[in-house]
Amino acid sequence: AREAPEPRAPRLPIRPELAHEEPYGAPQLDVPVLLNVNENPYPPSEAVVASIAAAVARAAHGLNRYPDREFRALRTALAAYLERESGVTGLDADHLWAANGSNEVMLHLLQAFGGPGRTALSFAPTYSMYPEYARDTHTAWVAGRREDDFTLDPDVAIALIREVRPAVVLLPSPNNPTGTALPLPVVERILDVARTSGPDGAATVVVLDEAYAEFRRAGVPSALSILADHPHLAVTRTMSKAFGMAGARVGYLAAAPALVDALRIVRLPYHLSAVTQAVALAALGHTDELMAQVASLRQERDALAVWLQERGLDAVASDANFILFGRFSDRHAVWRRLLDAGILVREVGPDGWLRVTVGTPEETAAFRAALTQAIEQES
Ligand code: PMP
Repeated sequence: AREAPEPRAPRLPIRPELAHEEPYGAPQLDVPVLLNVNENPYPPSEAVVASIAAAVARAAHGLNRYPDREFRALRTALAAYLERESGVTGLDADHLWAANGSNEVMLHLLQAFGGPGRTALSFAPTYSMYPEYARDTHTAWVAGRREDDFTLDPDVAIALIREVRPAVVLLPSPNNPTGTALPLPVVERILDVARTSGPDGAATVVVLDEAYAEFRRAGVPSALSILADHPHLAVTRTMSKAFGMAGARVGYLAAAPALVDALRIVRLPYHLSAVTQAVALAALGHTDELMAQVASLRQERDALAVWLQERGLDAVASDANFILFGRFSDRHAVWRRLLDAGILVREVGPDGWLRVTVGTPEETAAFRAALTQAIEQES
């Protein structure tokens, strides 16, 4: 008897715009010195680990129940932290929002304010996840240009905002991968135009992505200081960088309560697990200790920038915990040689540049030694 032909596997109805996409992600390689994704090199201390473990144990007793959907305790603690870190007053739980990384916070922003027929705008080179939030929320994406020194010309930015009428503008400060901070007067000029530059004469939501703000140099104010005057401003932050909690996945924002209320509509119910909330609250109890590391990482960054320049390389002025450096005629070859020496940096940004995260003094020393060798081979 003839066998029936194998039925052909059904074709999945993947959205056409996703059909040829690769999942986002920097390579996760098992090498000794990881300087590729702007993490904090210092693991939590024994004291922080003990607080987290105790808090998780307490939360575990209640895991049969859904967590606090509004996570008021965490929002209150984040408001207190922001007031302290930036010197602003008047923030409370109603101004705060949080999610699984600032990635998810920004997705919530695009879910609430983007969508079909709407546009999100940023200025390249910039964080590579922004166009993905737009794609995933059916929001059109427009990338304007930064100047050759990676600053943003406010006249260019404003002209593009007037032309595109975006629902959301994403402005990282400091920018990734360049480390460039955005001066507050530039932000204020953009906010002024943004009052009516959105769809149908509504405002454009201006997102100041301050993922790396704690590393800013003295005298660079946070956009939190002008939050009270701008109901269309959202300042996003994260516990992944300065706080050294990338593995906990906690990002947050501060904005006017009405803007936060819009995000409450699009979030999935109980999106922040009881364990996540417990971990974040416990870590926030150790702010002093964790902030002390930030000061030493800043010094390490500034010393590394000087060292790179002394080697005749370009190093972009950075207010973050990483430095974009170059320029190499074959950056991939330099990246590869560093990897062969056990050091993973990031091949990102315009051609010719590489990005290195500031590590511990030992890690930075290993990077300097390997780069010295790699450059000798290049010339
Ligand atoms: N914004 C910028 C500019 C970033 O570089 C990153 C992380 N690389 C994030 C946001 C997201 O960080 P997380 O989701 O860990 O908070």
